[in-house]
Amino acid sequence: MGQDGNELRTEDLNSCFKKLMMVVSGEEEVGKVNRESPVRVKDWKDIPTELLLRILSLVDDSSVIMASGVCKGWRDSIGSGLTHLSLVQLKKNMNNLLLSLAPKFTKLQMLSLRQDVAQLEDNAVEAIATHCYELRDLDLSKSFKLTDCSLHALAHGCPNLAKLNISGCWAFSPDAVVYLTNFCTQLRALNLCGCVRAATDCALQAIGRNCSRLQMLNLGWCDNVGDLGVMSLAFGCPDLRVLDLCYCVRITDDSVIALANGCPRLTSLGLYYCQNITDRAMYSLAQSAVKRKRTLWDSRRSRREDEEGLKSLNISQCTALTPPAVQAVCDSFPALHTCPGRHSLIISGCLSLTSVRCACSLQAHSSLWYLAH
Ligand SMILES: [Zn+2]
Repeated sequence: MGQDGNELRTEDLNSCFKKLMMVVSGEEEVGKVNRESPVRVKDWKDIPTELLLRILSLVDDSSVIMASGVCKGWRDSIGSGLTHLSLVQLKKNMNNLLLSLAPKFTKLQMLSLRQDVAQLEDNAVEAIATHCYELRDLDLSKSFKLTDCSLHALAHGCPNLAKLNISGCWAFSPDAVVYLTNFCTQLRALNLCGCVRAATDCALQAIGRNCSRLQMLNLGWCDNVGDLGVMSLAFGCPDLRVLDLCYCVRITDDSVIALANGCPRLTSLGLYYCQNITDRAMYSLAQSAVKRKRTLWDSRRSRREDEEGLKSLNISQCTALTPPAVQAVCDSFPALHTCPGRHSLIISGCLSLTSVRCACSLQAHSSLWYLAH
């Protein structure tokens, strides 16, 4: 700390500390509240764990790591209390740092290790899996150097994982994803964007079989995905809300029909460049809106957001679609918009669909027409 003019200088910290010392030990008027049990604070290392963690919650994560190296007391305090850590700004030495931090930071629940230049290797992920049993949210995106060993380690060490981002980790195999889902059955969100090798029908069948609570899945650019895999998801993951199938060029109407029938809570669907998709898929989505309302009404657990259904649909470059079918979808889901600013029905690249309009654009269009005549 202190090299940058915007940060606290060491002298500032020392003066803050002196004030803090007086307050906590009851030498100043504020100390009245602590008179019955004054805390003896003579040095930085003596400040209570809760206070230290409170202070560290105000600084960036690199300062937290530096603080953990100040003394054994601080290291133990931080290790026993730190639950969230992000190293995304670290440009080098991420792997070595994790090897030394993982055994100390055993209470981590959220760890973000997204990289611009791949640094992480399997041994660091293995260290995390060995020591951070409570991990629930892990971002390993763009870790190009990782192999299946990392997913195997996570499967054994982190059974509570609810959110995993391995987008861009192209070296993983489908078998490793199958293995992971056999153990990490609590997954709610999985990002496999760009995992071209791993995201196969076989891997998706395992997800459908093992992860019935899945709510978000990103399969963007996974061009090995086919109908068999998506149909297994639709069958096995009825709580699915957000699904990105952009550039899954092999899927057909069967995938969309299965999703329309099997996933009544779907709010966002990406079908960019899925050029096998036809009007049949659109009409099935439109019909699902009616069925959805009935099912949710019957279940008596309906919430407003569930009733609204699709809020985002990307069908850019789906060139086989015609205006009546897409208009039917737009009419069935009031949260889909083509109007500027809201734009949640994305039809760019489909010149034939320019006549499709959401209710508010239609209204604006007709009042303009009325004014002009
Ligand atoms: Zn609109």
